[in-house]
Amino acid sequence: EWSISDFEIGKFIGEGKFGKVYLAREKQSGYVVALKVIFKAKLEKYRSHAHLRREIEIQHGLNHPNVLRLFAWFHDETRVFLVLEYAARGELYKLLKSLHHFSEKRAATYVSSLAGALAYCHEKHVIHRDIKPENLLLDIEGRLKIADFGWAVQSNAKRHTMCGTIDYLAPEMVEKKEHDHAVDNWTLGILCYEFLYGVPPFEAEDEYGTFRSE
Ligand code: ADP
Ligand code: MG
Ligand code: MG
Repeated sequence: EWSISDFEIGKFIGEGKFGKVYLAREKQSGYVVALKVIFKAKLEKYRSHAHLRREIEIQHGLNHPNVLRLFAWFHDETRVFLVLEYAARGELYKLLKSLHHFSEKRAATYVSSLAGALAYCHEKHVIHRDIKPENLLLDIEGRLKIADFGWAVQSNAKRHTMCGTIDYLAPEMVEKKEHDHAVDNWTLGILCYEFLYGVPPFEAEDEYGTFRSE
């Protein structure tokens, strides 16, 4: 039903692995959103169709004040578009870098928001699996929003795919054992430390980035 002609495209706001994120305004309502644009050629190259489908299905089914809303999605010949809630204050990562570390009060507020959002996801059997400061966004009021469900799964069963970002990986994930929603809770602890001290408690020396192996 939606198409790119329904939107006025604004400034570039973020770079993803598979495309770019732009500010956009829905022409009829004037409603401001973030448009995540993913190139089909890139999906093709990395065989990531199933992942994107999962990201869309999972995020579309979540509705919580601390989870970034995915309102709709559509595609054309070359691109897939995700219509997302706009998080005007951007990545928590950037705020943490500029403040070096957070006050106890601010850290407590974020940890509480994140814990609430994770409890909600876990109740719906959704595991995020890539919680880190780059994937936590802030809206115009400074409320925390979990974003980027690219590694998320929705299932009751234990999982086996190793994924996420090295500094935030739970031990069972590093050891390639089966895991469940507890891997997100591990990350909550890591972030609690990082919010207060400015660096995560366990830092990898070289092996940065998100990776996957099975
Ligand atoms: P990827 O899956 O490729 O990591 P993300 O969904 O994490 O892509 O988006 C990449 C970056 O774009 C984010 O880290 C953030 O800086 C920015 N971004 C994404 N979605 C939004 C949004 N809804 N509002 C504001 N910034 C966003
Ligand atoms: Mg991301
Ligand atoms: Mg992603």
